[in-house]
Amino acid sequence: MDYKEALNRFRIKIEKVVAINYANSIMEWDAATGAPKKGAPMRGESLGFLTVLQHEILINKEAEEDLEILLQNIDKLTDIEAKMVKNSKKEFVKMSRIPKNELRDYHMLTNRAQHSWEEAREKDDFSIFSKDLKEIINYKRKFAKYIDAKEHPYNIFLDDYEEGMTVEKLNAFFSKLKERIVPLLKKIEESKTVINDDFLKKSYPIYLQKEAATELLEIMGFDLTRGMLKESTHPFTMGTNIDDVRLTSRYDENNMLSGTLSVAHEGGHALYEQNISRDLFNTSLATGTSLGIHESQSRIYENNIFKSKEFINFYLPFLVKRYPEQLKDITTENFYNAINRVEPSFIRVDADELTYSLHIMVRYEIELALIEERLEVEDLPEYWNNKMFEYLGITPPNNSMGVLQDVHWSHGLFGYFPTYALGSAYAAQFSHYMNEEKEPKKVLEWLNKNIHTYGSLLTPDEISLKSCGELLNPEYFCSYLEKKFTNLYNL
Ligand SMILES: [Zn+2]
Repeated sequence: MDYKEALNRFRIKIEKVVAINYANSIMEWDAATGAPKKGAPMRGESLGFLTVLQHEILINKEAEEDLEILLQNIDKLTDIEAKMVKNSKKEFVKMSRIPKNELRDYHMLTNRAQHSWEEAREKDDFSIFSKDLKEIINYKRKFAKYIDAKEHPYNIFLDDYEEGMTVEKLNAFFSKLKERIVPLLKKIEESKTVINDDFLKKSYPIYLQKEAATELLEIMGFDLTRGMLKESTHPFTMGTNIDDVRLTSRYDENNMLSGTLSVAHEGGHALYEQNISRDLFNTSLATGTSLGIHESQSRIYENNIFKSKEFINFYLPFLVKRYPEQLKDITTENFYNAINRVEPSFIRVDADELTYSLHIMVRYEIELALIEERLEVEDLPEYWNNKMFEYLGITPPNNSMGVLQDVHWSHGLFGYFPTYALGSAYAAQFSHYMNEEKEPKKVLEWLNKNIHTYGSLLTPDEISLKSCGELLNPEYFCSYLEKKFTNLYNL
């Protein structure tokens, strides 16, 4: 059969799926940014229906046959077409190997687990969630076996978020972090340097913070005619297509940094989605290539740029103009010290730049131990607390501030957490290869050219090799942290 007919049908299917995704995303965006609560059941039902529709378009006999024809003619396709076909084939194999009824039961389970997790966290009672969690882990292990019984199940999970990442590579990555960051933190805690960040906790009116957020976003280079900024409890970015990229931030009157760094972080994600090549428009490749690379784009702004002296020097005057009283007599040096202050804390999302990856290390080691059946769910709280003490030197006072703090496991998201740490490490590496550039226009230019434009056309490894001439190397991250905090704390 002529492959062109198959290609035509394939492209139409992809466009349909892109359109359904768009509708899905806007409904989810709406739900998170102010849609009426009472509409939730119908929204949930509609979303469920649209997801089934997507599945029906992609997973059927015709789609399978078309993919086979296209794979046989892969050298006649453009790079973009070939990559889409390969991705679809991979997805097809994954989806078709898991029995439909088990997948449905699993979705019902994770739905229920949202509630049991929420209740467990509220009542600070891990046992309310533990039964569901145990079942989720069993399903995850079973699904991984269906997909490839010979592969380490955790590698199968990783493949959904970070193509090419494996347990072996992560073990090496985290052992390097452990070796370098844990002793660095110990030294900081023993140091006599005291950093004052009281001025950040003064009253900063929310309406001024919102104005500042929009201004910072524009300074970063975000095009507000092709995107928008709103507010939500948990900040997030939604890149539906390059002409409609949405992000949210949150504001706390007595914590000016929270809103500032949220907008820097989400702004980094949003710039990625906004600057994907127009050649990929309306294809399945018009999004970030992996969670790790995506996170590198948010972290590079949040940490490497916004927390640098050079950039503070540049944006502090904007802030002083807005908050003349609150920031009276505050110098670049004061601001730099305060924004970089290290303090081990229980909650991951509030962690400073140095201790953040240690929070991730705790989660990675736990996930691996659970999946490899070296750890029972019942023993999780104690295991968590021991790890927190070992790496961060603190013990959570309760499970709500410990093992129950994150929503991820109730959604079945295993293998997701490590991408946060990979993002920080990639950010340090990219920053190194752009010669520690902090000027917003030049930063954006480098990121556009080396990362954004490719969307999902290249894998994380290919992006790293092309832009840095080497694969991910945690040495850049470790030495960046050592240099920065050795200076800051006079170690
Ligand atoms: Zn992020």
